[in-house]
Amino acid sequence: MGRYRSHYCIQANNNVGQAIKVAGWVESVRDIGKLVFFVLRDITGSLQVTVKKDSKYFDKAKELSLGDVVSVTGRIAERPEKMKNPKMKTGSVELICEELEVMSKSDRLPFIPGDPNVTEATRLKYRYLDLRRPEMQRNLIFRAKVMNAFREFLTSKGFIEIETPYLAKSTPEGSRDFLVPSRLHPGKFYALAQSPQLYKQILMVSGFDRYFQFPRCFRDEDLRGDRQPEFTQLDLEMSFVDMDDVMSLVEDAVKHVFKKTMGIEIKEIPRLDYEHVIEKYGTDKPDLRIKGLEIVHDGSVKVSLEGYEEKVKDMIGKKSFDNKMKSIEDNYDVKVSRFKQSIANGFVQIEGEKLDSLAAANELRRFIAYATNSIEEGFKVLWVVNFPLFELNEEGQITSAHHPFTSPRDEDLELLDKEPLRVRAKSYDLVINGWEVAGGSIRIHKPEIQAKVFKILGMSEEEYKKRYGFLLEAFKYGVPPHGGIAFGLDRFVAVMLGLNSIRDVIAFPKTKDGVDLMTGSPSEAPEEYLKEFRWLKIEKSKD
Ligand code: ASP
Repeated sequence: MGRYRSHYCIQANNNVGQAIKVAGWVESVRDIGKLVFFVLRDITGSLQVTVKKDSKYFDKAKELSLGDVVSVTGRIAERPEKMKNPKMKTGSVELICEELEVMSKSDRLPFIPGDPNVTEATRLKYRYLDLRRPEMQRNLIFRAKVMNAFREFLTSKGFIEIETPYLAKSTPEGSRDFLVPSRLHPGKFYALAQSPQLYKQILMVSGFDRYFQFPRCFRDEDLRGDRQPEFTQLDLEMSFVDMDDVMSLVEDAVKHVFKKTMGIEIKEIPRLDYEHVIEKYGTDKPDLRIKGLEIVHDGSVKVSLEGYEEKVKDMIGKKSFDNKMKSIEDNYDVKVSRFKQSIANGFVQIEGEKLDSLAAANELRRFIAYATNSIEEGFKVLWVVNFPLFELNEEGQITSAHHPFTSPRDEDLELLDKEPLRVRAKSYDLVINGWEVAGGSIRIHKPEIQAKVFKILGMSEEEYKKRYGFLLEAFKYGVPPHGGIAFGLDRFVAVMLGLNSIRDVIAFPKTKDGVDLMTGSPSEAPEEYLKEFRWLKIEKSKD
């Protein structure tokens, strides 16, 4: 027997009649006078410990509180039939305590892990307690399995795992950079990498042929929805490939990971055209689990209610329903027809600009499908291809739809000069159950095309040389055609587990406004540091 344990809790099942020693946290205690029961949990599960009145540890057991760390030696016994607990993995056995050692006492817990009434803010503040919940442990263990399965697959296909810097220079993902001041070079800053994009392209110039890593990426965005200022990707890049090579490899990787971690076979992964999915589903990340509720175009955009009439009738008049309709109207600047009338007509009519109406239709489809419990089980995986290379941002400026290193499609090259907005890209997004889980592209490897793209994006030669000169320089010395993709790993794992929040698959996430409630980060920097960075001086010299 080890100093602290000989077995894990889950092994109790196979050791009836044997003496074992387990160690873990006290999860609940029940004192019924002549017996004390407590549940002990370790990483494998929980086990009931029974302490009898005649045991010399009886009084000690009575004093146990939730969260205490103990080790127990005893004999595993079959529980009496009516005491068996089918909800517990070790529910048919118990450990009869012969020796109890308390290794650390716990203060009164601020909440019981798993209590549904505790707020997320409290869970994040005491993240270590929240992470004791079996669900959270399952999520993080599953995440590790997914990473292992990817690593195993990619390594078997000749991919080399290479790390690239986090302290980097601005990378082209189009978000704001987090800046890190350099003490040795006062007034200068590193940018935390938004992605390894440029490094991985340079690795292709160096001849590594197939690269991957699980990089952390840092993007200083206003945290809309379910985003984190730092998140993890599975990033990969390949040389001498075109779209189909990358997509086929990724399909095999995804199939392998689903099979290995969940035993699920993912069949054909369809490749759908961007324009087609926008027209048909109103979004570039359609949830193909939603059946029916088809979008019909006849002058205006309509959503067919066929098969949903009865279910929708029950929703009309409810507050949540009215609120949703109002938020759709406000968010997309559209008008949604009255529902009583819609049911009579068999469709909901949406009036407004076409793209707004389509986006509203997507939201409406999702809402009705969820509210009426009509989402199919399982995973619907698809590719969206033929994205435009450029798009207009809110200010009407032309920007890259993916990033400026994405290659135009060969057949659209001639449109670059005249009608850039019509040029399609060699890019692809992988979508699962309505979430974009990965996106990538074949890259530009010809300097003249790259120069043209920068120009269309409104960058002067001086400007792009300043930002990306090192890449263009590297590209002068023999660059293979190449392309790749990056998965949002947190999102991918959350989708596999059917979770809505990526915070549930990240050990120490930040809140929506970027705060780590457990450590209290971000926090003020010590004055000496600021002095070293010469910030105090700079600030003072301003007044
Ligand atoms: N670097 C891209 C991103 O972070 C992915 C890629 O193009 O490979 O979205």
